[in-house]
Amino acid sequence: MKIAVLGTGMVGRAVADRLSTLGHDVAIGTRGVEQTLARTEPDWLGNVPFAQWQQTHPAMPLVSFADAGAHGEVVVNATQGAASLAAIEATGAANLAGKVLLDAALPLDISEGMPPLLSVVNTDSLGEQIQRAFPEARVVKSLNTMLADVMVDPGRIPGHHNVFVAGEDAEAKETVKSLLREIGWPDDAILDLGGIRGTRATEMYSALLFSVSAALGTYDFNVAIVRK
Ligand code: NAP
Repeated sequence: MKIAVLGTGMVGRAVADRLSTLGHDVAIGTRGVEQTLARTEPDWLGNVPFAQWQQTHPAMPLVSFADAGAHGEVVVNATQGAASLAAIEATGAANLAGKVLLDAALPLDISEGMPPLLSVVNTDSLGEQIQRAFPEARVVKSLNTMLADVMVDPGRIPGHHNVFVAGEDAEAKETVKSLLREIGWPDDAILDLGGIRGTRATEMYSALLFSVSAALGTYDFNVAIVRK
């Protein structure tokens, strides 16, 4: 499948690499190809500059957001939450029409330091904002509740643990669930929260995620839903 991954950070790299390894035709989108390749400093999370990463991952071209949008049958949003609407706008509404948009972003606000606040909360969510702004895209929120490494390698966490999906379009959710299974998520780990409103819960869960990570001293964990 042709897949566009919007985002050159640790999520974009991890998801692109995993999907490419699985045989998908992946292009990675960025604001400016030359500017991104010219970076020589690690990003704010300490990841090596993109050009250095690309030397060991040459199969995936780095292209503009618009070219990525034109390429992908499925588009993954792995951009900074505060910039996601702008990044998707640059990708092009026409490029997204009818396509599955897997949104993995969080609307984090670190203006007051860590743990982050959320810039949209309670009565709305980034996933809903994206769906409203791009009504012809079939938005499915998923993967946003865990570290990038866990998103693409669920087996690194022992035992049962969950990944959530939320979105209005049942067929689009099936496409995302199928990709999740390919990545290695067991079918019974994929919990469908219903419509796009479910995005509020998975974005607000990040408050617990950051508190747990502070308590454990690591982000290398996930949540497991255990029921009677
Ligand atoms: P990030 O630093 O949050 O985002 C990097 C991407 O955002 C880059 O591709 C960058 O574009 C783009 N971007 C930044 N400012 C922009 C702007 N003004 N306009 C357009 N695009 C802009 O990277 P990340 O850590 O990989 O996270 C990606 C998303 O996943 C975020 O929403 C994050 O909250 C969420 N998330 C991350 C993790 C994790 O493990 N890191 C876990 C769960 C959810 P350029 O390529 O042009 O620089």
